[in-house]
Amino acid sequence: MELLCPAGNLASLKVALNAGADAVYLGLKNDTNARSFAGLNFTPEKLAQAAKLTQQAGKKIFLTINTFPKPGEEQRWYQAIDLAADTGVDALIMADLSLLDYAHSRYPHLPLHLSVQASATNLGALSLYKQEFNIDRVVLPRVLSMKQVRDLSKVTPVDLEVFAFGSLCIMAEGRCHLSSYVTGQSPNTGGSCSPAKHVRWQDVGDSQQTRLNDVLIDQSGKDEQMGYPVVCKGRYTTSDSQEASHLLESPTSLNTLSLLPELAKARVVSLKIEGRQRSPAYVEQVTRVWRQAIDTYLNDPAAYTTQAQWDQALAKVSEGQVTTLGAYERTWQ
Ligand code: SF4
Repeated sequence: MELLCPAGNLASLKVALNAGADAVYLGLKNDTNARSFAGLNFTPEKLAQAAKLTQQAGKKIFLTINTFPKPGEEQRWYQAIDLAADTGVDALIMADLSLLDYAHSRYPHLPLHLSVQASATNLGALSLYKQEFNIDRVVLPRVLSMKQVRDLSKVTPVDLEVFAFGSLCIMAEGRCHLSSYVTGQSPNTGGSCSPAKHVRWQDVGDSQQTRLNDVLIDQSGKDEQMGYPVVCKGRYTTSDSQEASHLLESPTSLNTLSLLPELAKARVVSLKIEGRQRSPAYVEQVTRVWRQAIDTYLNDPAAYTTQAQWDQALAKVSEGQVTTLGAYERTWQ
């Protein structure tokens, strides 16, 4: 199984490669990818540098072009695909039908991975994408149970990649109206759900207020460890309760270390670590733990168990310092 790690910049890419990633994924410095944050991502020159470093290390590099072009602005997305082909990346990660068509017809030898944003979860959808665009792989949305992943693996015409670790959203993979409501921006078109230009922190007495486009979304103690502010993970009061709480979603990270044997048996080819927006320290820590876990499993699959120190190391960098198996485990079913 491939360990696929996030690279928000060259520093993260280098630590991911050193810590044991088999492949890295990244985006360009514009809205062609869904982590379009100021200070993140790659210029064409940096992309060339990243591709060289990765390929010299014998690893793979995938370029994420997974947002949906706005009407009249498609050229930016086409240029991103042309650049990726010129640079010689190992695959493109895409969701939009017109972009898949553009890439497949112009660069038939450039492997295509269907992004999680495409929300393809069944045999019919995967077969269609395979037939029309010859996709090699699908990144499965984080809505499937382990049984559904297993069932799909028996019939899929393409390789399966799953999210193994990282932040979760309550959105159906990018289809989020919360952020549009507060900032007018959408992750699937603008490239980020909570653009930095809209974020404002303000000290008020002993606490710190977080505002997004002037809407108060959280109030925390000054020493409290907080994740990047997004509407769904804010704390709010209601007419029934003046005590602010996570009414929509608590900050929680997906952690599937304990599912590694099941994912391997389901012939999942790639384990994806979420977090291009996170620091190089996060990337290094998470990559090291997952490298150890995968190697331990491959050494002796029957003896594999999750080690407490791995979970502890991951909990330290998890959003909200809490982890879950997410939709993979549905105890009520
Ligand atoms: S507001 Fe929350 S659910 Fe919506 S895209 Fe952002 S992180 Fe995801």
